[in-house]
Amino acid sequence: ILVDQTLDSKKDRVSYEDIGGLKEEVKKVRELVELPLTRPDLFRKLGIEPPKGILLYGPPGTGKTLIARAVASDSRAYFIAINGPEIMNKYYGESEARLREIFEEAKKNSPAIIFIDELDAVAPKRSEVVGDVEKRVVAQLLSLMDGLKSRGDVIVIGASNMPELLDPALRRPGRFDREIFIGVPGTQGREEILKIHTRGMNLTPDVNLRKIAEVTHGYTGADLAQLCKEAGIRALERYMDCRETGDVTVTKEDFERALKAIEPSALREMIVEI
Ligand code: ATP
Repeated sequence: ILVDQTLDSKKDRVSYEDIGGLKEEVKKVRELVELPLTRPDLFRKLGIEPPKGILLYGPPGTGKTLIARAVASDSRAYFIAINGPEIMNKYYGESEARLREIFEEAKKNSPAIIFIDELDAVAPKRSEVVGDVEKRVVAQLLSLMDGLKSRGDVIVIGASNMPELLDPALRRPGRFDREIFIGVPGTQGREEILKIHTRGMNLTPDVNLRKIAEVTHGYTGADLAQLCKEAGIRALERYMDCRETGDVTVTKEDFERALKAIEPSALREMIVEI
């Protein structure tokens, strides 16, 4: 089964406090998604159509999935996450049926959010794909979205690193008609992300998260999460090696060593391209 989960699975519950930076972006998503899910009556009374789909686009590891999960938790909506490539490969020949099932499940459990990660894999430009399967799956997704009544009780959030590859029909009104860019964080955002990922860590006073934020230009949220984890591992190794007794603490030096090991993913991609 794909990563289906309701709010009952605490493990994956995400709140806005778990998202660093992205205040404006989160605000926009909340306005577009939360209100229709929680107060459909307002839209009805005003005669405004709530959005059926929104698209989050930008580089990988910047928090698109986090935002979708946080919005679902906060609006107490049923959450179904699917992954584009997975639905195309794993269910080869059954992708359309699987999509129909997902929409059914969402409707049955509404208010609901369907999150489609790597949407470009499910809905590439039909003019450019050779395979019949892709064309049929795009058409199926379009018809399922058109079939969602404009009640706003099921909203599809799509995520893509390459929105230019998406079939243009998907970006028309009534489909994914709102697009929000989720970019690589700036210094302030990086500091917030570092605070989040060191929340449970015992840091020595010489660890200055602001300074680390200043030297991690180009690091995404995912890179920073990895950096903190790496620093934690270094601390653990030190602790084990020295057979220390007291508390295990993470020091400035652990972070310095972690910084040497974890490079920003933007840089990693560049190296691959060269
Ligand atoms: P992809 O396009 O690869 O699916 P994504 O944009 O959906 O990437 P996420 O899955 O949300 O990225 O992020 C991966 C992990 O990186 C998160 O689980 C979290 O630990 C960390 N992370 C990313 N962005 C942030 C952020 N803004 N604040 C805090 N943590 C973040």
